[in-house]
Amino acid sequence: MNHYPASIRQLIKLMARLPGIGEKTAERLALHILYASDHLVEELARSILDVKHNVRLCSRCFSLSDAELCAICSHPARDAAVVCVVEQPGDVAALEKSGAFGGVYHVLSGVLSPLNGVGPDDIRIRELVARVAAGGVREVVLATGTSVEGEATAAFIAGRLAAFPVAVTRIAAGVPMGGDLKYVDQVTLKKAMESRRALG
Ligand SMILES: [Zn+2]
Repeated sequence: MNHYPASIRQLIKLMARLPGIGEKTAERLALHILYASDHLVEELARSILDVKHNVRLCSRCFSLSDAELCAICSHPARDAAVVCVVEQPGDVAALEKSGAFGGVYHVLSGVLSPLNGVGPDDIRIRELVARVAAGGVREVVLATGTSVEGEATAAFIAGRLAAFPVAVTRIAAGVPMGGDLKYVDQVTLKKAMESRRALG
């Protein structure tokens, strides 16, 4: 690597810090960038900064957004009375790709994990209860993963929502035990959403 000029070595070093990119791939990407058009490289650099500066959390569902409200929360055709609870923004992307859900989301930003010191106040459960308490929600679909933590989180939330006149359902069949929504194929995810069952 030392035979490269310092600026290329620096780019390789930074690229190699990205997940899934080893030094060989980093080298290939750095050289690709070196020989790519000015236009592409400038757009890439601008896009990286844009993501960093402009993406924030939707003030309603806590998914990733470019604005105060995300594209899903502000879409007039989405059913705001059906709220799907997921662990992470990546789960929203997975469910959207499956096309199985026409409601809105609530991103917890984690799961309950007592062993790791993550309690109910550390994820966005209070915000979910507040959303339901505010009215207008008919169904809450619990789509946390099927890991022990995901199941425990779903059960905890169902308990917290029991006092409200709202149907609480759980996506079921198809999502493998310990499964992370992001890695479940779209057909399976669609089935799991369609065959959700009532909790409690
Ligand atoms: Zn939103």
